[in-house]
Amino acid sequence: MRKPIIVGNWKMNKTIAEAVDFITAIEPVLHDNADFGVATSFLALNESIKHANKLIVAAENCHFAESGAYTGEVSIPMLKEIGLKWCIVGHSERRQMFGDTDETVNKKVKALIANGITPIMCCGESLETFEAGKTEEWVRGQIKAGLDGLDAEQVANMVIAYEPIWAIGTGKSATKEIAENTCKIVRDEVCRNFGKDAADRVRIQYGGSVKPENIADYMAMEDIDGALIGGASLKVDSFTAIINAVK
Ligand code: 13P
Repeated sequence: MRKPIIVGNWKMNKTIAEAVDFITAIEPVLHDNADFGVATSFLALNESIKHANKLIVAAENCHFAESGAYTGEVSIPMLKEIGLKWCIVGHSERRQMFGDTDETVNKKVKALIANGITPIMCCGESLETFEAGKTEEWVRGQIKAGLDGLDAEQVANMVIAYEPIWAIGTGKSATKEIAENTCKIVRDEVCRNFGKDAADRVRIQYGGSVKPENIADYMAMEDIDGALIGGASLKVDSFTAIINAVK
């Protein structure tokens, strides 16, 4: 039985003070039917971790190298020092705007796991790929490449987020059937490469215009174990409604 996991990805939103206010407001509404978390800017991580009790706090990115001449980047030892335990990798915004590739995503995933941090690895296709009917091929490729070199136990313990790019921030969410179908493909690709036990245990989230009104539809699907949520995770009211919807 997979425990659902719902994570708000705040992207480049919220100052430290805003993050702390949000976390203070949300902690009392959390419950044990699912794991809940927020991904904050690097700057807000330290204070967020200090104020979070049940809530998972995740970074939105990291560099795979331990240290070095990488101006503007943040290393995994720096994140470890503040007690960070979770990190999103390979979000489509990073792939599209900041040069992340399957290869760098794979390096980040491996480096995070080696340091005891759980990756939330994102995959998902563009509108062009979706319309060309090539989603399956694309997503299988991202999963195979992103998880290359890991063992079954490592994959079983991580989280994969399927986020079709055409559904991110557009208000145009994927239907629950489309989301379920691709999450099933992700699980099947894990099964092909790492076996049935890893496939049965890995948690797969859907992301893309998830909101209080549609979260229950996604959560009812067999292969969707949670959600990665942008816009609707920014307000205490809407995130609370989502939390209550999975009670
Ligand atoms: P929205 O929920 O705003 O569509 O964003 C999804 C997302 O990118 C989460 O990582």
